[in-house]
Amino acid sequence: RVKRGGRGGLERFSREINEQAVRRLRLATELRLALRDQQFCLHFQPAIDARTGSICAFEALVRWNHPVDGMISPAEFIPIAEETGVINELGDWVFREAAAALGRWDAAGGARVGVSVNLSARQLLQPDIAMRLAESARAAGIAPRRLTLEITETALMRDPEFAASQVRRLKRRGFPIALDDFGTGYSSLSYLKHFRIDQLKIDRSFVRGLPGDRDDIAITRTIVAMARHLGLAIVAEGVETAAQAAYLRELGCEMLQGFHFSRPLPEAAALACLREDALALAG
Ligand code: C2E
Ligand code: MG
Ligand code: MG
Ligand code: MG
Repeated sequence: RVKRGGRGGLERFSREINEQAVRRLRLATELRLALRDQQFCLHFQPAIDARTGSICAFEALVRWNHPVDGMISPAEFIPIAEETGVINELGDWVFREAAAALGRWDAAGGARVGVSVNLSARQLLQPDIAMRLAESARAAGIAPRRLTLEITETALMRDPEFAASQVRRLKRRGFPIALDDFGTGYSSLSYLKHFRIDQLKIDRSFVRGLPGDRDDIAITRTIVAMARHLGLAIVAEGVETAAQAAYLRELGCEMLQGFHFSRPLPEAAALACLREDALALAG
């Protein structure tokens, strides 16, 4: 009986693995068409100035509205786009669209903010990426200093020497660089200096246990203190409660991002938030 149950479990397991592989393959082929058919859109999540409570930037997060499967998470399709190379074209689209949204908000009288765009490892390692992004920013009429590029430690570690030279090229073009999901990768602290990063984003796995968990307290305190000594701006990701926000503010974390403040929003809703902020500042 045990044996039969075991085999049934194994069969179910291999069927699930197989279904996953089939879905992956299908999404890989559909990704290219999706770009042509404009099935992607961007949502924008505000980052809040911890002292004033106003919005200082938005992070652009791509969404795939699949005609049959509905909304598919970037956590699922970005790795596929990365493997198949579609990420280069998709990433160009994301960047252009984020810059264009910023231009539209400026024109509509929203408070002047920046936008962060995520860059995958493969995009970072494209030899002409800095030139192409600078050209897109210029075409949209947006100063590069308002377009922060978020890179993960893992992306930097794939080819550290070349990645460092790519980061230098992007910085020479005027783009600020943020290290995303900080603390989850394997980069050594000396790399922080080497790469000339502007901003650290504390991964949300360390924010989750605040303000009670002793390990998370030790980790976030250390990251904030280190960022201050190195002169880096610091953002906490995944802030879900008022208690987490209060703790991080007390610690001296400059920017806060998470569901406690806002989920990622469609462009029109993001603009509405910006106009509220502009009104509050004027009043
Ligand atoms: P990320 O860059 O670390 O983005 C933050 C993710 O955390 C987003 O998930 C966001 O919706 C989610 N999040 C924000 N606040 C909270 C919170 O309080 N609690 C929880 N539990 N989650 C929160 P999303 O949009 O599903 O994106 C997942 C990842 O996909 C991103 O992680 C990023 O690595 C990647 N991604 C998204 N858009 C792009 C893109 O345009 N290009 C590239 N290369 N990667 C992207
Ligand atoms: Mg990010
Ligand atoms: Mg992150
Ligand atoms: Mg992440």
